[in-house]
Amino acid sequence: MKIMLDAGHYGQRNRSPVTPEYYESVAMWRLCEYLSDALARYGFTVGRTREEQETDLAVTARGRKAAGYDLFISLHSNAANSESVDRVDVYGPIDMNGRVYELGSVLINAVSELMGVSKGSVKTRRSSSGDDEYYGVLRGARSVGCGAYYIIEHSFHTNRNASLWLLDDANLRALAEVEAAVIASFYGMVDGFEPGDVDMNGRLDSVDVMLIKRAYFGTLTLSDAQKRLADIDNSGNIDIFDYLLAKRKYFE
Ligand SMILES: [Zn+2]
Repeated sequence: MKIMLDAGHYGQRNRSPVTPEYYESVAMWRLCEYLSDALARYGFTVGRTREEQETDLAVTARGRKAAGYDLFISLHSNAANSESVDRVDVYGPIDMNGRVYELGSVLINAVSELMGVSKGSVKTRRSSSGDDEYYGVLRGARSVGCGAYYIIEHSFHTNRNASLWLLDDANLRALAEVEAAVIASFYGMVDGFEPGDVDMNGRLDSVDVMLIKRAYFGTLTLSDAQKRLADIDNSGNIDIFDYLLAKRKYFE
């Protein structure tokens, strides 16, 4: 299970008009580092769109780094004309299915609760032509066939409380832990392994497909952790559907 993280802007970009010490680019870079560490601890393979805080990369090029990744997340705080605007929004794929919407939704709930701001909503934004993403990073991720890509807007740095909150390093660490926990639970990671990785070697391969088939036929007894990993659809038992899901995931 591979996740590509994008820290958004580079250098000192998007200064808060109400909290002069706050730059969106600096805070989101820190959050990206913490989130990268937290996700790795859960067993995800984590990539980053940029190596250095000071070096820019064009938006679509950052999005294209999602090639071969299961999930792409671009980290931001938003800006509004009115200081009172204070909520967490997530932008997802223009043609997202229910499950991709659901991940956006659980992220909004967790982040808004931690930040103590209103829940925004899972939004989409189409390009003027109507058949592509409006945002360059998302357009890039879409162009390389990544199935789940998001922009998370961690409230608004035009709001005083939100910008002060994001300036606090302890809050950024907490944010990273909460986001990583939500993502790990959403993907059903067990002890750092993705669903289906029954032999716990870090990837779902033909051996796992065979083990799930044998567990389903009752010719193999699995440990409790292995049972949870084999029960890919979370139905409570290992059945033909888990075997078919494992096969599909393996051949993807
Ligand atoms: Zn931004």
